[in-house]
Amino acid sequence: MGTHSHPELTKNQSLVFGTLNRADGPLTAYAILDLLRDEGFRAPLQVYRALEKLLDFGLVHRLESLNAFVACSHPGCSQHHAVAFAICETCGNVLEFTPDAALKDLSKWAGDCGFSPAKTTIELRGTCRGCGQAATN
Ligand SMILES: [Zn+2]
Ligand SMILES: [Zn+2]
Repeated sequence: MGTHSHPELTKNQSLVFGTLNRADGPLTAYAILDLLRDEGFRAPLQVYRALEKLLDFGLVHRLESLNAFVACSHPGCSQHHAVAFAICETCGNVLEFTPDAALKDLSKWAGDCGFSPAKTTIELRGTCRGCGQAATN
């Protein structure tokens, strides 16, 4: 297998990626902009441009239901076209996983129907284990 070295990132791309990497949870483009004002970011477009490339590289994922972004939790993830997220609505924690069996079902269904998915988004909203336990104590 090849190395998982990151593609050459521009200064803005690595600043945005670093911010997402350090964050505890998903961040919106505007939250990223706020965190990077000291680095010279002034316009949402600068953040969106960097995010677009980072999405292409598979280094970050977009959470559709939150309109927010997270750093990929496993490098080399650019291999997988579809991932799923479990989003805790109590603490905001996001778990990334790859539900292979479910994805296989979806692509079989799509194939049978002659449907060509451009992308697949699976997001579970609910309560993480930690918050679930805290609620019952
Ligand atoms: Zn990933
Ligand atoms: Zn939680």
